[in-house]
Amino acid sequence: MPEAAGSVTEATRQVYWNINTDYLWVMYALMVLMTVAMGYGTWQRVRTWLIGKPEVRWDRPGQRLRRVLVHALGQARLLKNWLPGIAHALLFFGFIVLFLGTVVVFIHEDLGIPIMRGRFYLYFHSLTLDVFGALATIGLGVFLWRRYVMRPGQLEKGKVSDFLLLLGLFVIMVTGFVIEGVRLVVTQDPWRLWSPFGYLTGLALAALFPGEAALRAVHAATWWFHMAVVFAWLGALPYTKAFHLITGPLNVFFSNLDAKGEPKPMDLEDETAALGARTALDLTWKQLLDLDACTECGRCEAACPAFAEGKPLSPKRVILDLREHVHAHRDELLRAKAAQLAGDQETYESIVNHLPILAGGVIKEETLWACTTCRACEEACPVFIEHVPTILEMRRYLAMEQAEMPETLASAMESMETRQHPYRGATADRTDWYRDLPVRTMAEVEDPEEIEYLYWVGCAGAFDERVQKVARALARVMDRAGIKFAVLGPEEQCTGDPARRSGNEYHYEMLARANVETLNSYKVRRIVTHCPHCLQQLKHEYKRFGGHYEVIHHSELVFKLMEEGKLDLARELHQALRVTYHDPCYLGRYNDVYDAPRGVLDGLGTQRVEMARSRERSFCCGAGGAHMWYEDKQGGKINRNRAEEAVGTGAEVVVTGCPFCLAMMESGIKGVEGAEERGVKVRDFVELVDEALAQNDGEAAAGAQAGSAD
Ligand code: SF4
Ligand code: SF4
Repeated sequence: MPEAAGSVTEATRQVYWNINTDYLWVMYALMVLMTVAMGYGTWQRVRTWLIGKPEVRWDRPGQRLRRVLVHALGQARLLKNWLPGIAHALLFFGFIVLFLGTVVVFIHEDLGIPIMRGRFYLYFHSLTLDVFGALATIGLGVFLWRRYVMRPGQLEKGKVSDFLLLLGLFVIMVTGFVIEGVRLVVTQDPWRLWSPFGYLTGLALAALFPGEAALRAVHAATWWFHMAVVFAWLGALPYTKAFHLITGPLNVFFSNLDAKGEPKPMDLEDETAALGARTALDLTWKQLLDLDACTECGRCEAACPAFAEGKPLSPKRVILDLREHVHAHRDELLRAKAAQLAGDQETYESIVNHLPILAGGVIKEETLWACTTCRACEEACPVFIEHVPTILEMRRYLAMEQAEMPETLASAMESMETRQHPYRGATADRTDWYRDLPVRTMAEVEDPEEIEYLYWVGCAGAFDERVQKVARALARVMDRAGIKFAVLGPEEQCTGDPARRSGNEYHYEMLARANVETLNSYKVRRIVTHCPHCLQQLKHEYKRFGGHYEVIHHSELVFKLMEEGKLDLARELHQALRVTYHDPCYLGRYNDVYDAPRGVLDGLGTQRVEMARSRERSFCCGAGGAHMWYEDKQGGKINRNRAEEAVGTGAEVVVTGCPFCLAMMESGIKGVEGAEERGVKVRDFVELVDEALAQNDGEAAAGAQAGSAD
């Protein structure tokens, strides 16, 4: 005799319908086993993170929670890739709702608080759970189809455990519908239409297994099987990659809120501190958490320019190889940490000396040098893993501890040490580029207070002939807009960016401290620069040395001047010009400056076309991370890849706002099919602004032409 589903007036149901409650102890025993397995596995993971160095990542909790809401709950980054994004969202929300449903059952049945009744039962426990269960099953189906039928390149074939994880979830979903459906059909539950998918499943099973006894047997067997799979899946969670359900949101919460891509600070005064990461003990706890947060989705790899050009670098593999290493050597690492905390240096050293070195051991040297630090991987990663500082930490070990680095890079470093710039063989000095222009140095200015902007020219602007033209154009534009500016001239030194990005923290600090001292001696407050790498240093990374300035990119200044009507431009000059804008990584992804350069181009009246990979998805030119001074011979050319895309838009001019991008794109378009015949040029946008001003200004035009030998 079917049991009543509840009173006629108040909807509810009996939780253990058809289940012999004499055996419920088996379920509770399984639950205890699951909890122990889960707890032990989780503790093992947490202990591993705690071997890392300290790092404060719990300040600004409000901002962190917002990020979790947008990116963990809201799935914002995941949804940028629509198919896997939607599938993941269906699965994610489906499971959250089903989990809440289980909590409701626990409160109702085990705690004896009768909440599973009435409208709440109908709207939430019947309809919502049923619909979300169906959506989660669809999401799961898409995942299985994508991974095992479609197989996009970024997804590896996968381990058996990955398949079992997905299969386990699928079984949980399907058996859930079977249990629900059989009960609805056998009891003729008066509220069965509130669970449409379960009811349909029940009807299908009733056709397959006619008769109540058969259906009851199916129900009981499926119920126990469902329970066993649920507990096994949850118990296995910390031992599989599905643990990212926990570590993903955690990693988003603890993600970096400060300057993007900045290497970890080093205390060079501390003689006991490691120079870079020799072992996992030299990484911070957050860097170790990063490893466990990886979902192996491959988005970072798909975005990586080095990987795209067949260089020996996959950001995903870097993270996974480090993770496998840490898990494989967990016991030694834990013992070493305990010895370190106990001050037992001898034991610590003896353990550490037997561990594989990270840089050059776990991760190949050529892998570490192949990174352009473009941050495309970080921007693509749905769980905010920070690949760049970890790669740079290992580079530091190579550069400072092992004195290993590519030869061309080493000679640029040598030049930085002896001549304070990386342009080995350059004959110009820092004043040559402006000799015939009305440019003053801070030392020549009587009252530094009158200076609105310190123009930070950078080494490229001073020593590279092509970039000198950009510096001259910007100086003319500022002059015509009536901006009071000055330069440091001979007092300027390289910001140290190439040294820092190649792991030479000593060189970097020397240059950074000298520059901050000079800038502070003139009480500089506002700086404009045409170099995004200098911008990154001056705006963010000099703060540690006491350099606090308001720093803007020249695109932001020029756009502001245009908006204020301070530039009398001949808009007809570039009206028919088809241009495409290449976002420099250190301007866009590092500093979120996307609109100002585009605003300038639109203000000039150009016909702007976007490349498919633009804004935060921009593809690196190949020069970042000190690669301007290091030609990676393995694989193809990153700049050629980008130049082909730019030329493919049909643009006559490829515009950019970075001296390194300018050089890389100019060399990249050489030989790109159609580029030469169409006369495609590469320009900094300020050169176009300068020309448009010159057109409306006879006197300045003469100047511009003189400099356009410039
Ligand atoms: S920073 Fe750029 S080059 Fe380096 S791993 Fe990430 S995507 Fe690849
Ligand atoms: S590091 Fe991030 S983007 Fe790369 S595979 Fe892991 S989760 Fe995906």
